[in-house]
Amino acid sequence: MNRTNPGPERHLVGMPVSPGVAIGPMFGATEAPALVQRRKIQASDSGAEVSRLDAAIVQSRKQLTKLRNRLAVLPEDSQAEIAPLLDAYLQMIGPSRLVRQTRKRITEALVSAETAVADETQALADAILALPGPGDSARRHAEEVREIGRRLVRNLTRTPFRSFAGLPSGAILICESLRPADAALLDPSKLAGVATEEGGADGHTSVMLRALGVPAVLSVEGLGQAARPGDLVVIDGTAGTVVVNPSPTTLAAAKRAVIAFAQERARFGRMRRLASVTQDGHSIELQANLEIPVELPLIAQSGAAGIGLLRSEFMFMNRETLPDEDDQYEAYRTAIEAMGGDPVTIRVLDWGGEKEIEALQNEGVVPDVADTNPALGLRGIRLLLRQPALFETQLAAILRAGVAGPTRVLLPMVTNIAEIRTARDHYDRVVRRLRRRGDRLPDKLPPLGIMIETPGAALSADALAQEADFFAIGTNDLTMYTLAVDRGETEVSELYDPLHPAVLRLIQITAEAALRANIGVSVCGEMAANPHFTRLLIGLGLRSLSMNAAAVPRVKQAIRALKATECVAFAAQVMRQSDPVAIRRMVMEAA
Ligand code: PEP
Ligand code: MG
Repeated sequence: MNRTNPGPERHLVGMPVSPGVAIGPMFGATEAPALVQRRKIQASDSGAEVSRLDAAIVQSRKQLTKLRNRLAVLPEDSQAEIAPLLDAYLQMIGPSRLVRQTRKRITEALVSAETAVADETQALADAILALPGPGDSARRHAEEVREIGRRLVRNLTRTPFRSFAGLPSGAILICESLRPADAALLDPSKLAGVATEEGGADGHTSVMLRALGVPAVLSVEGLGQAARPGDLVVIDGTAGTVVVNPSPTTLAAAKRAVIAFAQERARFGRMRRLASVTQDGHSIELQANLEIPVELPLIAQSGAAGIGLLRSEFMFMNRETLPDEDDQYEAYRTAIEAMGGDPVTIRVLDWGGEKEIEALQNEGVVPDVADTNPALGLRGIRLLLRQPALFETQLAAILRAGVAGPTRVLLPMVTNIAEIRTARDHYDRVVRRLRRRGDRLPDKLPPLGIMIETPGAALSADALAQEADFFAIGTNDLTMYTLAVDRGETEVSELYDPLHPAVLRLIQITAEAALRANIGVSVCGEMAANPHFTRLLIGLGLRSLSMNAAAVPRVKQAIRALKATECVAFAAQVMRQSDPVAIRRMVMEAA
């Protein structure tokens, strides 16, 4: 490194996406943008343009297949997470709607192949994002569409792709953006860290960087101007900070943080094998939530005792038609088998609210006209009971997959006992049908539980507990419905507080009702993932928590430091408070 004249120390802030602290010289890898010159064509040229498009598709497929094969050099866990991202691209340039529509644009709008690709991918990404309150999955899908568009345009315009050759060992890679396809070109054992100007926490880039185990901060404004090649850079992927040209004091602190992080990693690694038990001997079931299948290896490594919430929406997204029983059976069986005997709770489709699914629209399963207030409309179990074929297909797939290991079925957005009774009628009917058909079913049929996500459900928990086999408290929605604060609305995000006494009271009511009826109860909302809240949740009577896989070791560490008796006394003290700010202070101070 040649730093004759390091500039002043500069602090920048971005989005923390992959934890850890890294120190190293900056290596810049910029990529010249591929420029699309909008061009009209003659009708007689459209055949030739379609051929150019087809050639670019073949070339892109070849490149992606090659990159996918190169993933073999990465550690197995990283491969398992990154390969599906590249597969998603490959699928999109197969016989997809994107390809069909792009060809149509060439022949009907009479534009060049690159113009058609740019317009179609832009229109498709915009349409995905225009859905009311796009969720993480929609944002990821829009990102995939844009990425495939960039690759096709690059190949059509013969703009070279960037290379990471020359990246020195121990360097911090700084660029505008990084994409899953780049993972195959990077050697994680050489790369100290990554900072980019673009990208968000929920995108594929962050999944990929976490899979590589490389500390990373994305979306750092002004990064390009602040750092010059060779500058010493410190990035903190936990706090989301980047320091260029650190002072000796900053550097010394960063070195200590590198060591502390390595020690924490080692401790969490050991934690995986330790029991999730309080100091006074109460076992707490710790499970993981699964939102997309790429999380399965992470869950397996996290030390989670099974999946407490498998959000089955992923089965229905990013496709034009609904998955049939066999498609679903395969996906559920894979998850159940991967858990090796630990239970898997599969939540049936929770459509509605902020979750939009194209295939349901295409097949006329959901109304064309959106509800005026989707969060209060035809969501979760309400839709499934209106669409018995959809519901029963999913139940059949889960029942068959249940042969592979302990399985539970979870109903979303239940608010009254009639819904559970009707759902159980469907369930029984499916069991009879599968038996008649000669399908193998589990010896012990999966229990049928419900999400408690509304104040109405929590307040009638005693009655619901007579009908449901178990409860899973969804604190994300419970907080939203209790406080009338949209969970995705930034304008009111300060009011969204799971520690509000009203939310805590409803959790307590639910836990006590489950205890009286002798049924299981868990918390599977984001609240369960915060180790500061573990003391309170145990004190409120919870003995089962489900969370994102990354949080499992941290929450386990918290559990192992607690005594259940003290948690109960603490919860009693908290429940006497009426001010959410005071409660938060108590919770943070006690942790
Ligand atoms: C919840 O509402 O807390 C929950 C776990 O369900 P989802 O986040 O999928 O709505
Ligand atoms: Mg919910």
